[in-house]
Amino acid sequence: MEIVKTIAEVRRLVHQARQDGKTIGFVPTMGALHAGHGSLIERSVRECGFTVVSIFVNPTQFGPREDLDKYPRTLEADAALCGQLGADLIFAPSAAEMYPQKQFSWVVVEEMTAGLCGACRPGHFRGVTTVCAKLFNIVGPDKAYFGQKDAQQAAVIKRMAQDLNMPLEICVCPTVRETDGLAMSSRNRYLAPDERQRALVLSQSLEQCRRMLLQGERNPEVLRNAMESLFCEANVEVEYIEFTDPETMEKVQTVGDRVLVAIAAKVGSTRLIDNEIIDLQGRKSGV
Ligand code: AMP
Repeated sequence: MEIVKTIAEVRRLVHQARQDGKTIGFVPTMGALHAGHGSLIERSVRECGFTVVSIFVNPTQFGPREDLDKYPRTLEADAALCGQLGADLIFAPSAAEMYPQKQFSWVVVEEMTAGLCGACRPGHFRGVTTVCAKLFNIVGPDKAYFGQKDAQQAAVIKRMAQDLNMPLEICVCPTVRETDGLAMSSRNRYLAPDERQRALVLSQSLEQCRRMLLQGERNPEVLRNAMESLFCEANVEVEYIEFTDPETMEKVQTVGDRVLVAIAAKVGSTRLIDNEIIDLQGRKSGV
Protein backbone atom coordinates (compact mmCIF):
# COMPACT_ATOMS: atom_id res chain seq x y z
CA MET A 1 0.00 0.00 0.00
CA GLU A 2 1.27 3.45 -0.90
CA ILE A 3 0.65 6.78 0.83
CA VAL A 4 0.72 9.77 -1.51
CA LYS A 5 0.16 13.47 -0.94
CA THR A 6 -0.24 14.86 -4.43
CA ILE A 7 -3.08 14.80 -6.93
CA ALA A 8 -0.66 13.93 -9.72
CA GLU A 9 0.50 10.77 -7.92
CA VAL A 10 -3.05 9.60 -7.21
CA ARG A 11 -3.98 10.09 -10.85
CA ARG A 12 -0.91 8.16 -11.99
CA LEU A 13 -1.52 5.19 -9.68
CA VAL A 14 -5.26 5.01 -10.39
CA HIS A 15 -4.57 5.19 -14.12
CA GLN A 16 -2.15 2.28 -13.75
CA ALA A 17 -4.75 0.23 -11.82
CA ARG A 18 -7.35 0.92 -14.52
CA GLN A 19 -4.90 -0.20 -17.19
CA ASP A 20 -4.53 -3.43 -15.23
CA GLY A 21 -8.30 -3.85 -15.63
CA LYS A 22 -9.20 -3.07 -11.99
CA THR A 23 -12.33 -1.29 -10.80
CA ILE A 24 -11.68 1.61 -8.45
CA GLY A 25 -13.30 1.85 -5.01
CA PHE A 26 -13.01 5.03 -2.96
CA VAL A 27 -13.51 5.72 0.76
CA PRO A 28 -13.30 9.43 1.65
CA THR A 29 -12.48 10.06 5.33
CA MET A 30 -11.08 12.67 7.68
CA GLY A 31 -8.83 10.08 9.35
CA ALA A 32 -8.71 9.03 13.02
CA LEU A 33 -9.99 5.78 11.58
CA HIS A 34 -12.06 3.31 13.57
CA ALA A 35 -14.04 0.17 12.80
CA GLY A 36 -16.82 2.24 11.17
CA HIS A 37 -14.40 3.50 8.53
CA GLY A 38 -12.96 -0.03 8.48
CA SER A 39 -16.30 -1.49 7.38
CA LEU A 40 -16.37 0.87 4.37
CA ILE A 41 -12.80 -0.03 3.42
CA GLU A 42 -13.53 -3.76 3.79
CA ARG A 43 -16.55 -3.50 1.53
CA SER A 44 -14.59 -1.59 -1.09
CA VAL A 45 -11.78 -4.17 -0.98
CA ARG A 46 -14.40 -6.93 -1.39
CA GLU A 47 -16.12 -5.25 -4.33
CA CYS A 48 -13.30 -3.46 -6.17
CA GLY A 49 -9.85 -4.40 -7.45
CA PHE A 50 -8.18 -1.19 -6.23
CA THR A 51 -9.22 0.71 -3.11
CA VAL A 52 -8.25 4.33 -2.47
CA VAL A 53 -8.78 5.85 1.01
CA SER A 54 -8.49 9.61 1.33
CA ILE A 55 -7.54 11.15 4.65
CA PHE A 56 -8.18 14.86 4.63
CA VAL A 57 -9.53 17.07 7.39
CA ASN A 58 -11.38 19.38 5.05
CA PRO A 59 -11.28 22.96 6.37
CA THR A 60 -14.17 24.18 4.20
CA GLN A 61 -16.71 22.02 6.03
CA PHE A 62 -15.85 23.36 9.50
CA GLY A 63 -17.47 26.48 10.91
CA PRO A 64 -15.37 29.17 12.58
CA ARG A 65 -16.23 27.93 16.09
CA GLU A 66 -15.86 24.24 15.33
CA ASP A 67 -13.12 21.70 16.11
CA LEU A 68 -10.92 21.94 12.96
CA ASP A 69 -7.68 22.56 14.87
CA LYS A 70 -8.35 20.01 17.54
CA TYR A 71 -9.72 17.32 15.18
CA PRO A 72 -7.65 14.14 15.82
CA ARG A 73 -4.88 13.40 13.30
CA THR A 74 -3.43 9.88 13.55
CA LEU A 75 -1.95 9.14 10.12
CA GLU A 76 0.41 6.39 11.25
CA ALA A 77 -2.30 4.31 12.94
CA ASP A 78 -4.67 5.06 10.05
CA ALA A 79 -2.13 3.75 7.53
CA ALA A 80 -1.66 0.57 9.58
CA LEU A 81 -5.42 -0.10 9.59
CA CYS A 82 -5.79 0.60 5.85
CA GLY A 83 -2.88 -1.76 5.15
CA GLN A 84 -4.37 -4.51 7.32
CA LEU A 85 -7.71 -4.24 5.57
CA GLY A 86 -6.18 -4.47 2.11
CA ALA A 87 -6.51 -0.89 0.84
CA ASP A 88 -4.15 -0.13 -2.04
CA LEU A 89 -3.59 3.59 -1.75
CA ILE A 90 -3.96 6.37 0.82
CA PHE A 91 -4.35 9.89 -0.50
CA ALA A 92 -3.43 12.31 2.32
CA PRO A 93 -3.19 15.74 0.75
CA SER A 94 -2.40 19.03 2.48
CA ALA A 95 -4.99 21.82 2.48
CA ALA A 96 -2.74 23.67 -0.01
CA GLU A 97 -2.81 20.69 -2.38
CA MET A 98 -6.62 20.62 -2.30
CA TYR A 99 -7.15 24.39 -2.25
CA PRO A 100 -4.12 25.95 -3.99
CA GLN A 101 -5.93 29.18 -4.82
CA LYS A 102 -9.00 31.09 -3.73
CA GLN A 103 -11.91 28.83 -4.57
CA PHE A 104 -14.64 30.56 -6.60
CA SER A 105 -16.49 27.36 -7.50
CA TRP A 106 -18.67 25.49 -5.04
CA VAL A 107 -21.11 22.62 -5.30
CA VAL A 108 -24.35 23.26 -3.45
CA VAL A 109 -27.19 20.79 -2.98
CA GLU A 110 -30.26 22.84 -2.17
CA GLU A 111 -33.22 22.22 0.15
CA MET A 112 -32.08 18.87 1.52
CA THR A 113 -29.13 20.63 3.22
CA ALA A 114 -31.33 23.29 4.84
CA GLY A 115 -32.46 21.25 7.85
CA LEU A 116 -30.86 18.91 10.40
CA CYS A 117 -27.06 19.37 10.50
CA GLY A 118 -27.31 21.97 7.72
CA ALA A 119 -29.33 24.24 10.00
CA CYS A 120 -26.92 23.88 12.93
CA ARG A 121 -23.74 24.06 10.82
CA PRO A 122 -24.13 26.80 8.19
CA GLY A 123 -21.89 26.16 5.17
CA HIS A 124 -21.01 22.65 6.33
CA PHE A 125 -22.62 20.80 3.44
CA ARG A 126 -21.27 23.23 0.85
CA GLY A 127 -17.82 22.21 2.09
CA VAL A 128 -18.69 18.51 2.09
CA THR A 129 -20.22 18.42 -1.40
CA THR A 130 -17.45 20.55 -2.86
CA VAL A 131 -14.63 18.45 -1.41
CA CYS A 132 -16.36 15.21 -2.44
CA ALA A 133 -16.84 16.52 -6.00
CA LYS A 134 -13.14 17.50 -6.07
CA LEU A 135 -12.08 14.11 -4.70
CA PHE A 136 -14.31 12.26 -7.16
CA ASN A 137 -12.68 14.25 -9.99
CA ILE A 138 -9.20 13.47 -8.66
CA VAL A 139 -9.70 9.75 -7.98
CA GLY A 140 -12.27 8.91 -10.64
CA PRO A 141 -13.77 5.95 -8.74
CA ASP A 142 -16.39 3.47 -9.97
CA LYS A 143 -17.83 3.23 -6.48
CA ALA A 144 -17.57 5.50 -3.42
CA TYR A 145 -18.50 4.30 0.06
CA PHE A 146 -20.23 6.38 2.73
CA GLY A 147 -21.59 5.53 6.17
CA GLN A 148 -25.24 5.65 7.18
CA LYS A 149 -23.94 7.15 10.45
CA ASP A 150 -23.92 10.50 8.60
CA ALA A 151 -27.39 9.99 7.12
CA GLN A 152 -27.88 13.47 5.71
CA GLN A 153 -24.38 13.52 4.22
CA ALA A 154 -24.91 10.14 2.51
CA ALA A 155 -28.28 11.25 1.07
CA VAL A 156 -26.86 14.60 -0.09
CA ILE A 157 -23.85 13.02 -1.82
CA LYS A 158 -26.10 10.44 -3.47
CA ARG A 159 -28.37 13.19 -4.77
CA MET A 160 -25.41 15.32 -5.93
CA ALA A 161 -24.03 12.38 -7.94
CA GLN A 162 -27.47 11.77 -9.52
CA ASP A 163 -28.27 15.41 -10.23
CA LEU A 164 -24.85 16.14 -11.75
CA ASN A 165 -24.55 12.84 -13.67
CA MET A 166 -21.36 11.88 -11.91
CA PRO A 167 -20.21 8.55 -13.34
CA LEU A 168 -19.95 6.57 -10.13
CA GLU A 169 -22.10 4.57 -7.74
CA ILE A 170 -22.60 5.84 -4.19
CA CYS A 171 -22.78 2.93 -1.74
CA VAL A 172 -24.16 3.56 1.74
CA CYS A 173 -23.00 1.16 4.47
CA PRO A 174 -24.65 0.43 7.85
CA THR A 175 -23.60 2.26 11.03
CA VAL A 176 -21.01 0.36 13.06
CA ARG A 177 -21.58 0.56 16.82
CA GLU A 178 -19.69 -0.18 20.01
CA THR A 179 -21.09 -3.24 21.82
CA ASP A 180 -23.19 -1.00 24.08
CA GLY A 181 -24.80 0.74 21.10
CA LEU A 182 -22.80 3.98 20.82
CA ALA A 183 -22.23 4.76 17.13
CA MET A 184 -18.51 4.79 16.42
CA SER A 185 -17.14 8.26 15.71
CA SER A 186 -13.73 9.90 15.61
CA ARG A 187 -15.16 12.43 18.07
CA ASN A 188 -15.92 9.75 20.71
CA ARG A 189 -12.32 10.08 21.85
CA TYR A 190 -13.16 13.58 23.17
CA LEU A 191 -15.58 12.06 25.71
CA ALA A 192 -14.62 11.88 29.39
CA PRO A 193 -15.66 8.58 31.05
CA ASP A 194 -18.95 9.94 32.48
CA GLU A 195 -19.74 11.62 29.13
CA ARG A 196 -19.07 8.33 27.32
CA GLN A 197 -21.75 6.77 29.57
CA ARG A 198 -24.23 9.62 29.07
CA ALA A 199 -23.66 9.47 25.28
CA LEU A 200 -25.55 6.15 25.25
CA VAL A 201 -28.76 8.16 25.37
CA LEU A 202 -28.50 8.76 21.61
CA SER A 203 -28.77 5.10 20.63
CA GLN A 204 -31.12 4.32 23.54
CA SER A 205 -33.56 7.03 22.51
CA LEU A 206 -33.56 5.66 18.94
CA GLU A 207 -34.36 2.26 20.38
CA GLN A 208 -37.21 3.78 22.41
CA CYS A 209 -38.51 5.56 19.32
CA ARG A 210 -38.48 2.33 17.34
CA ARG A 211 -40.43 0.56 20.09
CA MET A 212 -43.08 3.31 20.13
CA LEU A 213 -43.35 3.27 16.34
CA LEU A 214 -43.79 -0.50 16.36
CA GLN A 215 -46.53 -0.05 18.97
CA GLY A 216 -48.36 2.23 16.56
CA GLU A 217 -47.36 5.77 17.59
CA ARG A 218 -47.12 7.93 14.45
CA ASN A 219 -46.99 11.49 15.80
CA PRO A 220 -43.46 12.98 15.58
CA GLU A 221 -44.22 15.40 18.42
CA VAL A 222 -45.16 12.58 20.81
CA LEU A 223 -42.11 10.54 19.76
CA ARG A 224 -39.80 13.55 20.09
CA ASN A 225 -41.13 14.41 23.56
CA ALA A 226 -40.52 10.87 24.77
CA MET A 227 -36.98 10.93 23.40
CA GLU A 228 -36.28 14.38 24.81
CA SER A 229 -37.20 13.29 28.30
CA LEU A 230 -34.49 10.60 28.08
CA PHE A 231 -31.97 13.29 27.09
CA CYS A 232 -33.12 15.43 29.98
CA GLU A 233 -32.57 12.55 32.44
CA ALA A 234 -29.10 11.92 30.97
CA ASN A 235 -28.25 15.63 31.16
CA VAL A 236 -27.42 15.72 27.44
CA GLU A 237 -28.37 18.75 25.37
CA VAL A 238 -30.46 18.00 22.27
CA GLU A 239 -29.58 19.99 19.15
CA TYR A 240 -32.28 18.36 17.06
CA ILE A 241 -34.45 15.27 16.87
CA GLU A 242 -36.03 15.12 13.43
CA PHE A 243 -38.32 12.79 11.52
CA THR A 244 -37.73 12.98 7.77
CA ASP A 245 -37.95 11.23 4.46
CA PRO A 246 -34.68 9.20 4.27
CA GLU A 247 -33.94 10.32 0.69
CA THR A 248 -35.04 13.97 0.51
CA MET A 249 -34.66 14.92 4.18
CA GLU A 250 -38.12 16.48 4.08
CA LYS A 251 -39.70 16.65 7.52
CA VAL A 252 -42.75 14.43 7.95
CA GLN A 253 -45.94 15.51 9.74
CA THR A 254 -47.05 11.93 10.31
CA VAL A 255 -44.69 8.97 10.22
CA GLY A 256 -45.35 6.79 7.18
CA ASP A 257 -43.88 3.39 6.26
CA ARG A 258 -40.26 4.46 6.16
CA VAL A 259 -38.78 7.25 8.22
CA LEU A 260 -35.36 8.59 9.13
CA VAL A 261 -35.07 9.47 12.80
CA ALA A 262 -32.01 11.71 13.15
CA ILE A 263 -30.44 13.14 16.29
CA ALA A 264 -27.70 15.63 17.05
CA ALA A 265 -26.76 16.29 20.66
CA LYS A 266 -24.03 17.79 22.72
CA VAL A 267 -22.47 15.69 25.44
CA GLY A 268 -20.42 18.23 27.33
CA SER A 269 -18.71 20.11 24.52
CA THR A 270 -18.70 17.15 22.10
CA ARG A 271 -21.28 17.16 19.33
CA LEU A 272 -22.50 13.68 18.42
CA ILE A 273 -24.99 12.47 15.82
CA ASP A 274 -26.89 9.24 15.34
CA ASN A 275 -29.85 8.06 13.32
CA GLU A 276 -31.89 5.13 12.25
CA ILE A 277 -34.03 4.43 9.23
CA ILE A 278 -37.09 2.64 10.52
CA ASP A 279 -39.07 0.62 8.07
CA LEU A 280 -42.53 -0.11 9.40
CA GLN A 281 -43.25 -2.63 6.66
CA GLY A 282 -41.58 -5.02 9.12
CA ARG A 283 -38.00 -4.47 7.98
CA LYS A 284 -35.53 -2.53 10.15
CA SER A 285 -32.67 -1.25 8.07
CA GLY A 286 -29.74 1.12 8.15
CA VAL A 287 -28.94 0.71 4.47
P1 AMP B 1 -15.42 10.96 8.65
O1 AMP B 1 -14.00 10.54 8.75
O2 AMP B 1 -16.09 11.18 9.96
O3 AMP B 1 -15.65 12.06 7.64
O4 AMP B 1 -16.19 9.69 8.04
C1 AMP B 1 -15.78 9.10 6.83
C2 AMP B 1 -16.83 8.11 6.40
O5 AMP B 1 -16.96 7.09 7.39
C3 AMP B 1 -18.21 8.76 6.25
O6 AMP B 1 -18.84 8.23 5.10
C4 AMP B 1 -18.90 8.34 7.50
O7 AMP B 1 -20.31 8.27 7.38
C5 AMP B 1 -18.32 6.96 7.73
N1 AMP B 1 -18.48 6.55 9.13
C6 AMP B 1 -18.11 7.26 10.23
N2 AMP B 1 -18.48 6.61 11.35
C7 AMP B 1 -19.11 5.48 10.95
C8 AMP B 1 -19.74 4.39 11.63
N3 AMP B 1 -19.80 4.34 12.96
N4 AMP B 1 -20.28 3.40 10.88
C9 AMP B 1 -20.24 3.46 9.53
N5 AMP B 1 -19.67 4.44 8.83
C10 AMP B 1 -19.11 5.44 9.52
